[in-house]
Amino acid sequence: MFNQISKKQDSSVSRFFIFFFFLNLASNLFGLHYMDSQHLLDSVLSVVSISSLSALFAITEAMVLYLLWKVQGLQIAVMLLFLTVHLILIGTEAFLLSEFGMIIGQDAIDVLSETNARETSEFIGAYCNLHLLKPILFSLAALVFAYVTSAYIASSRYVRWLIIALCVYGSVLIAKGAYSFIQYHNGEGLPQLTTITRGGYAYYVMRQRANQFSTILEASQQCDATIEDGFKPFRHVVVVIGESSSFYHCSLYGYSKETFPHMSTEKDNGSLIAFNDVVTPFDATHGVMKCIFSLDHDNFGKAPLFPALFRKVGYYTQLLDNQYFVSQGINFLTNAELSAALFENRNDGYYGHDGRMLTDICLADSLSLTILHLNGQHYTYSDRFPESFAQFKPDDYDVQNKSFEQRQVMAAYDNAGRYCDHVINEVIKLLKDEDALLVFLSDHGEEVYDVRDYMGHGSALSSPDPNYLLKVPFFVWMSNEARVYRKSLYDKLLQSESTASITTNFSHFLLTLCGIRSTSVVPEKCFFSDRYDRTRPRIVLNSIDYDKEMK
Ligand SMILES: [Zn+2]
Repeated sequence: MFNQISKKQDSSVSRFFIFFFFLNLASNLFGLHYMDSQHLLDSVLSVVSISSLSALFAITEAMVLYLLWKVQGLQIAVMLLFLTVHLILIGTEAFLLSEFGMIIGQDAIDVLSETNARETSEFIGAYCNLHLLKPILFSLAALVFAYVTSAYIASSRYVRWLIIALCVYGSVLIAKGAYSFIQYHNGEGLPQLTTITRGGYAYYVMRQRANQFSTILEASQQCDATIEDGFKPFRHVVVVIGESSSFYHCSLYGYSKETFPHMSTEKDNGSLIAFNDVVTPFDATHGVMKCIFSLDHDNFGKAPLFPALFRKVGYYTQLLDNQYFVSQGINFLTNAELSAALFENRNDGYYGHDGRMLTDICLADSLSLTILHLNGQHYTYSDRFPESFAQFKPDDYDVQNKSFEQRQVMAAYDNAGRYCDHVINEVIKLLKDEDALLVFLSDHGEEVYDVRDYMGHGSALSSPDPNYLLKVPFFVWMSNEARVYRKSLYDKLLQSESTASITTNFSHFLLTLCGIRSTSVVPEKCFFSDRYDRTRPRIVLNSIDYDKEMK
């Protein structure tokens, strides 16, 4: 009889194991998304490694449940807990990959660390609908597969041997990783093999990164900067950082709908130059903002941020931000100490529509630098503009090929663009009688059902045309007075209208344009400079040569 009970328990351990093995595997295999799959052998090894760690996790779960067999209520409760965690992990991985081309890991943790309550509720509004169907179905399919398979193969002798082999290999991997970590402080990428460790490690890196703020602060305080001899500094400099503004939905670049009519007028008047070959290094805000602000993106933790140089030469500096707020989230633009060192004026909180930022702009008596970071055309698009700006209607779009819902979203996106044009125009009105310069750039592009059934950003790698996410509107406006003083500079910009550039070098462009010299400013990175190095590759998405592989 004891023998029978023992056999029964043995087979339930096997069944628990197989069941949890497949559930672990279903989420952990998403890790392959970030692994180099160019060589078959590497891919096979990655799958074996992931399977082995999945087996180790599964055997631990099975053993816990086995040990609870005498307390059945508790066993069921723990079982349900494990199951819930697995289904959430599988569903989240599937959702992130299908909607944003990312998985649980660094990118996702970065976005999460900067998200405030308002953005969360907007996100829920935008994606808690049919978008959730695919991940839910995928999780359920994994559950059914794990359940049925465990019933069939749990008693197989071969399966037991496979369990043992995988667990042994998993243990070897962990021992190797631990040894490497003790010896070289490098865990050989072990955390990347399971969803839980991947997410946990990314969180750890994010906390570590917070330590960079003190070194950036130091670099910003110690940087050198002077105004170039004989250069008359612009009295007011305004940088407007747009959000999710598509090059392809901007009438300045030939879009058929009049989304940026005021800017087109400025262009026709000869006050605005729209550069038409500018790309962004990333397809999501976080990475781009680091590039835009830092003078050395590769050494982000050690390089000064561009407002520090303006401050050094006597500019009053302010950042009005509709996305990042001081002391909310972990980011160089939310860090209170860094913010205080860089800016004399910051807003306290969310403005709602971007137009409300305008009342806070302070054009100081001295030289002034104002940075406006808009909410621009970020989803949910219909929340980005007042009702009076709802000019484009769903019926203005391709009725034959787009659903009503898609056309509704497209119209809202273009209306948000038109409102963005209005906001910039209101800023121009404040500046037009001054010696003033305004630069506009979008952080990244956006897809609005242009090339596939998708709206949003963050998935350039899986897009049929990544240009929609990487190519951005970028223009310079100068007041009459500013142009009179600096005719040759304006002409130089005009000649560079079609020069290939990337916003990674934005701070070098802006500081050179404003006549600010420093050992940190590299003229070879400034696309209108005579010294501009056209041979430098435009690297996007960490390692891709845009001109060779994506243009
Ligand atoms: Zn963005």
